[in-house]
Amino acid sequence: MWLPCGYTSKYIVTSFRRRVSTSYFHILGRWRCNVAAFMPEAAGFEGVSDRSALQEFSVNNSESFWAAAARERLSWSRPFHTVQDCDLSRGRIKWFEGGQLNVSVNCLDRHVHTCPEKVALIWERDEPGSEVKITYRQLLEMTCRLGNLLRRRGVKRGDCVTIYMPTCPLAVASMLACARIGAAHNVVFAGFSAEALAERIRDAQSSTIITVNQGVRGGKVTELKTTVDAAVQSCPAVKQVFVAMRTENPVAMTARDVAMEEEMLKEDSVCEPAAMDSEDVLFLLYTSGSTGKPKGLVHTQAGYLLYAALTHRYVFSYHDGDVFGCVADIGWITGHSYSVYGPLANGGTTVLFESTPVYPDPGRYWEMVQRLKINQFYGAPTAIRLLLKYGDQWVHKYDRSTLKTLGSVGEPINTEAWEWYHRVVGGGRCPVVDTWWQTETGGICISPRPSEPDAEIVPGMAMRPFFGIKPVLMDTEGKVLTANNTSGALCIAQPWPGMARTIHNNHQRFIETYCQPHPGYFFTGDGAYRSKEGYYQITGRLDDVINVSGHRIGTAEIEDVVNQCSAVAESAVIGYSHNIKGQGVYAFVVLKQDLEDQGADLRQQLHNMVSKKIAKYACPDFIQFVQRLPKTRSGKIMRRVLRKVVERDLDGLDDLSTLDDPASVQEIIQGHRGLCSKQPQ
Ligand code: AMP
Repeated sequence: MWLPCGYTSKYIVTSFRRRVSTSYFHILGRWRCNVAAFMPEAAGFEGVSDRSALQEFSVNNSESFWAAAARERLSWSRPFHTVQDCDLSRGRIKWFEGGQLNVSVNCLDRHVHTCPEKVALIWERDEPGSEVKITYRQLLEMTCRLGNLLRRRGVKRGDCVTIYMPTCPLAVASMLACARIGAAHNVVFAGFSAEALAERIRDAQSSTIITVNQGVRGGKVTELKTTVDAAVQSCPAVKQVFVAMRTENPVAMTARDVAMEEEMLKEDSVCEPAAMDSEDVLFLLYTSGSTGKPKGLVHTQAGYLLYAALTHRYVFSYHDGDVFGCVADIGWITGHSYSVYGPLANGGTTVLFESTPVYPDPGRYWEMVQRLKINQFYGAPTAIRLLLKYGDQWVHKYDRSTLKTLGSVGEPINTEAWEWYHRVVGGGRCPVVDTWWQTETGGICISPRPSEPDAEIVPGMAMRPFFGIKPVLMDTEGKVLTANNTSGALCIAQPWPGMARTIHNNHQRFIETYCQPHPGYFFTGDGAYRSKEGYYQITGRLDDVINVSGHRIGTAEIEDVVNQCSAVAESAVIGYSHNIKGQGVYAFVVLKQDLEDQGADLRQQLHNMVSKKIAKYACPDFIQFVQRLPKTRSGKIMRRVLRKVVERDLDGLDDLSTLDDPASVQEIIQGHRGLCSKQPQ
């Protein structure tokens, strides 16, 4: 039937409006409900109706966001009164002041109240198929006994305990026992040499060490207690060494040593937790910088724990009941945040991986995924590149249907490795999250997830900032680059709770390294590219720090050791692209005048020195003896030139006229060719 025009149109408009508004509110309601189901705190954030609005809110209203998350996700013994008091330009970073809590209570007691028999740790021992499960109740008991033992033996609030142990439940209990009684911990990767350990013990001013008799990794036994014995000889402040037994082989005990498990049995299984201020130190963790001296980055209690918990939950989409498999060693920040603190704060089940990706064979990870029913697997690109070379059959042999998310960390993941991880390991089903972060950031800062469930993921890109993170790129003059499709120095424009607070005993170095290069911003030391779409891709370090198999090492640290050799006049160490390790170590060495190239012997000697003074992973892959190093007229070594030679990018050498002795470069090019033809990578 025809109706008068006006009537028709009015009717249509009204009904259309009603339809639109009904469905708009319907969708809005669903989004609101979805976003609140996704993150309960979001229900209280005005105007937040979907995940991208949540991301925006977290950056633009960072205080409200973090305050709500801290109230929702942490148990406080006293509430905080100030959300943040930060001034990046002065290196002042304080979160949740006035608040008190205990990290071990947050990681253990509150879960023991609700689900004591839930598995907290699955210790994937080196010996395949011999995993050990530890419930929350057991882990709390272990932590309390150890806390009481430490207290009885004089460890006080504010002391710093050095832990030199492989990844195992007692190492986790040691970290949590320190947290329980208010001591800080300083975990030193158990691959570091006695001298590197000693340097870290002295710098941390530890008088108590916790170790094991022996480590077991990849079927090989390492004498960790012997290494500690050697280290403490040059650490007069060390009063006691607690020794746990990883193997049955007895070790020589001195008057300083304490048989840890035996003594723990004598202790009460209840230990009063210390009420810690939010900004009290939780731990130090040493990492490399561009000088020879490692820096002890300081993380504090509440902010760090909250950030580790939130990133663990949302980057990996970790849900209650999932088994989380981070295969990092607890000696690195990844082990701290994603094997220990994040998963335990969330009441999760976390795997502690003690072995290597190829022991007893290259199927180790995937056999473990099948046996332990792992839901999120978090590993390093170097291991993925290595496994890729062994072929798909090692993956296909095992059922990986439990996997939901695959993570990558520590260094850029190249497209080939990313594709293989996604297609072969994940069967094309699982999102791969390339997570960018560093010891300094405490937790993941850039990662493809969280985002809408079907949001695109670009291979080899970390892509999207996490909640509360505002990345910016700077040009060489320190101006913020606002356009997309551009590269610059990666900075973070506002503080977040997980960031490091200082460098132990050297706040000035903290300010100079992170705050002064771009005043008002946190400078990461990395370069990044922002794509047309606004996604971030990390391009590598801007300083003299290299990344070997995901382990950071300053070239200056290696040079310091090489230069200690009596035959060496000077040296320059650079990183070069290595197809498994990501970067390899290349050392140019000038010998003292009266010494000839002593070839293999001297190379071996330098190897041994680096291995002894730092760690095996820092040993040079190539040592090239040269007559002189390319230097500017002011005497600065031109590492850029050395890098170009090693990358065989001779066209990129540019103008060498600023060099003091341009002829040195020709000699180096020839020597490099000769060396590479003799010494395979
Ligand atoms: P660390 O503090 O030892 O964890 O090393 C942090 C450094 O590793 C960063 O500054 C980066 O240079 C590098 N890194 C970590 N994760 C990534 C990633 N996903 N992509 C690229 N580089 C990374």
